[in-house]
Amino acid sequence: MDKCRWCEDREADYENGLCEYCDSEVSECVICKSEEHIDSKCRHIFKDSEWRWNGSGVMGDYYDNRTAKVGLIALCEAMPRGFASALFYAIKSGRFYTFLMAPMIGSGGSMTLGGFDWPFFHPHRVREPRWEKEIVKAGEEHGDSEEVADGYHWLVSLYKDETPEANAVTLRWLMLCMGRGTEAPKR
Ligand SMILES: [Zn+2]
Ligand SMILES: [Zn+2]
Repeated sequence: MDKCRWCEDREADYENGLCEYCDSEVSECVICKSEEHIDSKCRHIFKDSEWRWNGSGVMGDYYDNRTAKVGLIALCEAMPRGFASALFYAIKSGRFYTFLMAPMIGSGGSMTLGGFDWPFFHPHRVREPRWEKEIVKAGEEHGDSEEVADGYHWLVSLYKDETPEANAVTLRWLMLCMGRGTEAPKR
């Protein structure tokens, strides 16, 4: 039997040439077009609360991604009013991204939310400074729930216009959040 092509140590148990251990730790990212290991992965994939690979980089039907959908809605509920609609416009602009500076794993860190700032004033397009602290608290520190953390990790897997299909489905989910009255954008 051949050796696992990732660790080159254990026997390759599966047709994909990976051992039992690496098979669950390694996943393909369709955006980077590379294999990623959980310890040194790209930004587009993560393991969700059901311990499955998830994120914009995971091939599959994005619209069927219930974990991400429920998570994103939970995240918007955990965030202050106005967040969902501002996020909607940021993603729609094709310029949304996040950047986390984390000194240590699990210690929070500081987040940059990109794509919110528009050249003209609009209350639903402008990022509030406190959101960056609050989203790290909600998602990175898993302060509220695993669902919120799933939504947070899905969101940080989006990157500008590199993730068009995942962006499109996220806009649809955000419309569910915005449909609850006061979140509706003004025209
Ligand atoms: Zn292996
Ligand atoms: Zn990737």
